[in-house]
Amino acid sequence: ERERPVEGRETRLRVVLRVRPLTCTETRRGDQQVVHSLGDGAVHVSAARHDATFGFSAVFDAGASQEAVFEGSGMRQLVELAMDGFSCTVFAFGQTGSGKTYTLMGPLAQSQAQPASPALLGLMQRSFTCLLEQSRSRGSDLTLSASYLEIYNEQVRDLLSPGPPCALPLRWSKTRGFYVENQLSVEFESLEAIVSLLLQGSQRRRTSAHALNRHSSRSHALLTIHIRSRAASTCPSKQGTLCFVDLAGSERVKETGSSGELSVEANSINRSLLALAGDTLWECPADPHQSPVTSFVAHPPAGHCISLLAKPRGKRTHIPYRDSKLTRLLARSLGGSGITLMVACISPSSRCLSETLSTLHYASRAR
Ligand code: ADP
Ligand code: MG
Repeated sequence: ERERPVEGRETRLRVVLRVRPLTCTETRRGDQQVVHSLGDGAVHVSAARHDATFGFSAVFDAGASQEAVFEGSGMRQLVELAMDGFSCTVFAFGQTGSGKTYTLMGPLAQSQAQPASPALLGLMQRSFTCLLEQSRSRGSDLTLSASYLEIYNEQVRDLLSPGPPCALPLRWSKTRGFYVENQLSVEFESLEAIVSLLLQGSQRRRTSAHALNRHSSRSHALLTIHIRSRAASTCPSKQGTLCFVDLAGSERVKETGSSGELSVEANSINRSLLALAGDTLWECPADPHQSPVTSFVAHPPAGHCISLLAKPRGKRTHIPYRDSKLTRLLARSLGGSGITLMVACISPSSRCLSETLSTLHYASRAR
């Protein structure tokens, strides 16, 4: 099987920023807050030798609730587009500890102890609710199923399959594009069922690792919802997908050895995702009842060259996305008619300044 070039550059990308609150530890040791939201999608970083403003489609500051992020990021529209047959992808991007998992799943995923309060549920659970509501209101001709994968060290693992973890091969076919062989896809009909799949998979992801923190910060997790309409005689069946990607930490890790190399690679892969997705942007309709499809705003690439941001200033290094399992798996949704929401996550702490600036530079669109 030969690898095919990624086709099409019509991807729509929307980038929003979330700034998490200072943690107790950060507050206790007196970290300075160097990130300030200016409103209207702008964020300001001021520290000793830095003074810069960055623009996003939306900025959620430390006070923003999980609900506010769901409603303000365009996530609801993305769910509706997936129901309409589009390939939709949500990425959480940022350094380890910046709030990626919290944004996607809430604190639930951190500790198994007790279920999080509904107010703290993340984008995923909120999307599932929205999806099931939509599915019910559109009639019961939809089949929903989920798959959950992890990519660590360029190996793909199925987080839903029971038994010992094993690496699954990535294949390519003309009809399916890249796909993971023998990947489980589990049908669900209720919120309880899909949340339970999410928890099982997340639990499996945590327990398998030898070095827990290192593992989850250096692996990508992809939960994909497949939405199939049972082919009615009158209309052809269509399939939409909604994929949630909890990316590996974007930080550069100064370490040698195989794991160190991997995380440097993860960093460049994260950037290459922006390159892949970056030519156009989509905007949320001001009126939530308006169809999001008709309100796409395709910006000229020259104005918002997120794709260029993937190339470090000064040197145009090779972007290894063709060589990465993650980008191959997402190639179709990112490079085809897919619609992407990128949630860039940062810490407001002075101690994270350099990684924060790096995230802001790569994720913001020039204004
Ligand atoms: P990441 O997945 O990027 O490594 P986490 O989501 O695990 O980061 O977040 C790191 C810590 O910060 C966790 O303890 C998490 O509960 C907390 N946290 C992150 N974002 C928020 C937020 N918006 N509000 C409150 N706590 C948060
Ligand atoms: Mg995480």
